[in-house]
Formats: sequence, structure tokens, C-alpha cells
Amino acid sequence: MLVRNILKEQKTTFSFEFFPPKTPEGWDRLFLTISDLIPLKPSWVSVTYGAGGSTREHTHNLVVRIRKETDLTVVTHLTCVEASRGDVAAILERYDSEGIHNILALRGDPPLGQREWKAGPEGFCYATDLVSFIKTRFPHMCVGVAGFPEGHPETRNRLQEIDHLKAKVDAGADYIITQLFFDNRDYYDFRERCELAGITVPIIAGIMPIISRSGMIRMAELAARARIPAPLLRSVQRASSNESVERVGIHWATEQVRDLIHNHVRGIHFYTLNNAKATLKIYEALGVADSLQLT
Ligand SMILES: Cc1cc2nc3c(=O)[nH]c(=O)nc-3n(C[C@H](O)[C@H](O)[C@H](O)COP(=O)(O)OP(=O)(O)OC[C@H]3O[C@@H](n4cnc5c(N)ncnc54)[C@H](O)[C@@H]3O)c2cc1C
Repeated sequence: MLVRNILKEQKTTFSFEFFPPKTPEGWDRLFLTISDLIPLKPSWVSVTYGAGGSTREHTHNLVVRIRKETDLTVVTHLTCVEASRGDVAAILERYDSEGIHNILALRGDPPLGQREWKAGPEGFCYATDLVSFIKTRFPHMCVGVAGFPEGHPETRNRLQEIDHLKAKVDAGADYIITQLFFDNRDYYDFRERCELAGITVPIIAGIMPIISRSGMIRMAELAARARIPAPLLRSVQRASSNESVERVGIHWATEQVRDLIHNHVRGIHFYTLNNAKATLKIYEALGVADSLQLT
């Protein structure tokens, strides 16, 4: 099913993101995670594309295996990194022939060792170009794009940044998934700024619970601007064991989700890090086992 149709049918969607594991044991563990999460009836699941296109083949294999072995709707992430238009067309044709029609279209970050983004030969400059390309060549596909409530680090002008996001939607993007954030006020303000810019597609909130101190530090580095609010930081600092850091992180994320649902969010996208525990605990704490009852 296309995500845009799921978004029409479900008042609030709940989606889970996975990354392609590097080892056979990792694959086994991931499929256990997926079977633990299936009873939650996610609206869809998505699979990331490694930085620099490094997991291109793994992403493809994981997406196809999820589609073959489960009833889940699956979205594949795709970036423009080190790929020509011809490469991207070949990837999309392969997905098309396998019945995979949901794409999260991203520019990607510069490859390792390169500080600034530069499109490769015959490549795409921005995600907008990738969205236009998909919508022209594969008009039956559903395309999502990324949004950044706290701003994308490369564009200092926050007004211009929303113009760039609007350009992705005007090129045909069906929905937006946000970068992770820890303060819902950032999401609400972003949603309002999108509304003011005339962006009307659903804006799905990206949530990643903190489950360890080292994970929190990595997250702050990767998600560039992710601000850790002082009350959350204080609780993490106070926690005396790994287990209590995890409890703090899951509790914070649960309260974020509760508040987002109360404020009519169109969807929650869980960055699961291939781990079921935090998502299961959040569902449990919200008092339901079935995502469709969460509205
Ligand atoms: C939900 C989500 C999933 C992600 N999944 C992956 C993944 O699987 N693999 C991966 O490698 N990365 C992933 N990323 C990270 C993403 O690739 C990076 O954040 C990347 O730096 C930006 O990608 P984008 O699609 O937002 O790019 P763009 O929308 O192209 O924006 C990139 C920068 O260029 C600016 N810009 C856009 N258009 C113009 C223009 N016309 N002129 C000047 N500046 C412009 C934007 O303001 C922004 O600063 C994900 C991010 C999110 C939020």
C-alpha cells in the first residue's frame, strides 16, 4: 500500500525505522525485533540507506526480504550520494519491478572526508531534484522527504530553509518525516512555520528514545542540532546505572508521544535502532497494544 493512502485512512500513523545490519547475526536479531514489533501493527516500516550509499545492496535486500516475509508496508530510503541519474534510475526500476513503491527521497550527507556537499557527475544537487525525478519517471510511486524542526546545519537562514522544504513538496513529496527532537515545542513551531509557508502535506514526528549515555552523545553528533533539554540532561546525569538511563529516556519519549498525540500529530516515526524494547515500552505505557487505537 502507498503511504499516502495509509495517511488518508489512519488518523495517526505509527511507523518504525530500521537499518541494514552488517553481520548475519545482526540480520537474525533484526528479524526477531521485527517479529516482536509486528503485533503493534505499524502503519509502515522503513529501511535506511547507509551514509555515502555504503549499504545500497543491503538496503535493497532488507526491503525485499521484509516485503516477502511479512505483510508490512515497507518504505526504502534513497540518497543522491555518489550516484548518477542513471544509477538512481536503475535502483528505482529494480524496486518498481519488485513492487516497492514507497521511497523516502533524501540528498544524504557528503561522503566521509568531504566537508561540503557537491553533487557528483550526472548527479542530483538537492533532494528536490530527486523528488522531481521520481515523480516524473515513476509517477505511481509515493515519496516522502526529510524535515528539520531545529534547522538543517547547512542552511543558517531559517526562512530560506522552509522555502527549500516547500520546493520539495511542490516537486511532489507526499509527506514529511522530521529529524529527531526532544522538545515538542520545536516540532509545533516547525509545523506552524510550514503551515505559514503553505505546506499542507502531513508532517510526521521523528522520535528516538535515549537508551544509553553513549547513544545520547552519538545522537547529538549525528543529528547535528538535536538539543537535549536541561531537565532531560539532568535526569540522565542523575541516573546511576545503564538501566536507569534507559528508563529515563523511554519515559521522556513516552511523554513526548503522549503530548504529540494530544496535539493532533499526523504520525509518529520511531527511530528504533533495530531494537524493539523502547517502542514496546512506550506502547505499553500509553496503555494500548494496537496502534490504530492510539488516536
Ligand atoms: C527522516 C530522515 C531519514 C533519513 N534517512 C537517511 C538515510 O537513510 N541515509 C542517509 O544517508 N541520510 C539520511 N538522513 C539524513 C539526510 O540525508 C541528511 O540530513 C542530509 O544532510 C540532508 O538531506 P535532505 O534530504 O534533507 O536534503 P535537502 O532537502 O537537499 O537539503 C540539504 C540542505 O540543502 C539546502 N537546500 C535545499 N535546496 C536548496 C537550494 N535550492 N539552494 C540552496 N540550498 C538548498 C537545505 O536547506 C539543506 O540545508 C535522514 C534524515 C531524516 C530527517
